[in-house]
Amino acid sequence: MPADGAPLAVPTAEVLQRLADVVGPAHAIADRDVQQPYLVERRDKYLGRTPLVLRPGTVEEVSRILAIANAARVGVVPQGGNTGLVGGQVPFESGAEIVLSLSRIDRLREIDGPGLTMTVEAGMTLADVRTRADAVGCLFPLSLPSEGTCQIGGNLATNAGGAGVLAYGNARNLVLGLEVVLADGRVWNGLRALKKDNTGYDLRDLFIGSEGTLGVITAAVLKLFPRPERQATAMLGVGSLETALVVFGRLQARFGASLTAFEFIPAIALDFVTRHNVDARSPFVERHSWNLLVEISTTESDDASALEDALGTLVDSGEIKGAVVAHSLRQARDLWRLREGISDAQRPEGGSIKHDVSVPISSIPAFVARAAEIVERVAPGARPVPFGHFGDGNIHYNVSQPHGGDKAAFLELWEKLSHEIHGLVHEMGGSISAEHGIGRMKADDLVRFKSKVELDMMGAIKAALDPRGILNPGKVLK
Ligand code: FAD
Repeated sequence: MPADGAPLAVPTAEVLQRLADVVGPAHAIADRDVQQPYLVERRDKYLGRTPLVLRPGTVEEVSRILAIANAARVGVVPQGGNTGLVGGQVPFESGAEIVLSLSRIDRLREIDGPGLTMTVEAGMTLADVRTRADAVGCLFPLSLPSEGTCQIGGNLATNAGGAGVLAYGNARNLVLGLEVVLADGRVWNGLRALKKDNTGYDLRDLFIGSEGTLGVITAAVLKLFPRPERQATAMLGVGSLETALVVFGRLQARFGASLTAFEFIPAIALDFVTRHNVDARSPFVERHSWNLLVEISTTESDDASALEDALGTLVDSGEIKGAVVAHSLRQARDLWRLREGISDAQRPEGGSIKHDVSVPISSIPAFVARAAEIVERVAPGARPVPFGHFGDGNIHYNVSQPHGGDKAAFLELWEKLSHEIHGLVHEMGGSISAEHGIGRMKADDLVRFKSKVELDMMGAIKAALDPRGILNPGKVLK
C-alpha cells in the first residue's frame, strides 16, 4: 500500500489518452504484438501486461507523463534496454501499469576529454557510451556482456557491476551527477561534474541502484579514465579455489590497481562453452578444475612481459598448473569470449537455476563447497556451474539440471534451492544480490534478510520521494 494510504488505480480511457497525447501516436504503443518485446524479460520468467508503452523523446515529456500518472495514481514501470535479470523492468500481469521506455532519450550532451567527464542521456546504450569515450582517447570502464542492448540509465538504476569492478568500482563509483524526474513530474537537475561536493545528503546515491522505484533517471555526468595503453590477458589453470585465492593475493600484491580483472570459470563451464560454441576452444590441452581469467591494464609498455614474469614465478612454485598469455588482441578476445559465453552455453544443457551472490573473497572456496552439498541434497544429480568475478567475491551460482532430467521438474525446485543458497550466503556474511538488484525476483528475500531498521529507512525514503507509490510498484519493496 502506498505511503498515503490510497491504492493505485487502473488507468481510465481518458487518462490513457492524455498520456498518449504527450508522446504522439507514433510513440504510444497499445498494440499487444508490438508491445511484446517490452513485456517479456530475457529469461522468460515474467510476462507482463500493459495498456500502453510510452516512448518519450524529451525530458519534458517524461516530466509530463509522470505528472499525469501521479495525479491519476497510475503505476509506471521505467524500462531501459530490458536486459535486467530480476524482472524489475516488466510490468505485473494485472495490466494496470504503464511502461515508460527511455530508449529515445539517448543523446550525448557533452564530452570533456581533458576534464575526463561526459554527460549522456539515459537511453544511450552502454556500448555507445564506451565508443564515444574511446573516440576522445578515454575509457568508460563499465563493461557488461549485455552492453550492446542495456542502457546507461538502466545501468545506473541497477548499480551494475561487470568485469571492471575490481579496479574501477561498480556503476555507482563512475557517476558524478544525475538528472532525475521525480514521481510528481518535477525535474531535479543534479548534473554536477564535481569530484568534491559536500553539501548535505547525497541525493545522487539514493537514485543509483533504486531500480526505478524512486525516480526516472534521464541523464548523467559520467567519470572517464585515461585509456590504458596496454592490456595483458591470460588464462590460468589451477587445481582448487584455495589456490585461486593465493594466486589472486600474489597478483594483487604485484600489480595493485593495474589488476583490472580476475574472473573464475569452473571446468564444467569451459566444457559447456566449447561444446556449444563452435568458435570457442579451450586454451589448454589438459582439463583444469578451475580457470582464472586475468587482465592487467596500464599505461606502461612492458606489461605483457611483467605478467609473464609473474606467472612464471607462480608456475615454478607449483601454484598454477597451466598459463596461456594472449599475444594479440584477437587472442585476448578469444579468452574473454570463453568467460562471456557461459550463460548462453548453459541453455542447451537444459534448465538452469541462477543466483547472483557475493561473499567475502576468502570465503569463496568454503561457500562453493557448502553450496554444492545443498544442491546435491535438494536436486540430486544437478550440476553446479559457479563462475564470476572472483576479485569482487561475486559468484554467479548457477545450477544446471541433471543430465537427461526433466526440465520443468527441475525448475520447480528454484524457490526451494534459492531459499537454502541465500540462507548460506547470509550465514557467511554475504549478499543475496551482488550486482543484478532485487527487482521482483528477490523482493521476498529482501524482507527475509534486511533488518527492520534497514527496511524502515528504505520505506521512509520511498514514502518521501514517491508518496503515492506510482514508481515501479511491487519492485524492491513490496
Ligand atoms: P532494464 O533491464 O530495462 O531495467 C532494469 C531496472 O532499472 C528496472 O527496475 C527498471 O525499472 C530500471 N530502470 C531502467 N532504466 C531506468 C531509468 N532510466 N531510470 C530509472 N529506472 C530505470 N549485470 C551486471 O551488473 N553485471 C553483469 O556482468 C551482467 N551481465 C549480463 C549479461 C547478460 C547476457 C544479460 C542479459 C544481463 C546482464 N546483466 C549484468 C544484467 C543487466 O544487463 C544489468 O542489470 C543492466 O544494468 C540493466 O540495464 P537495462 O538498460 O537493460 O535496464
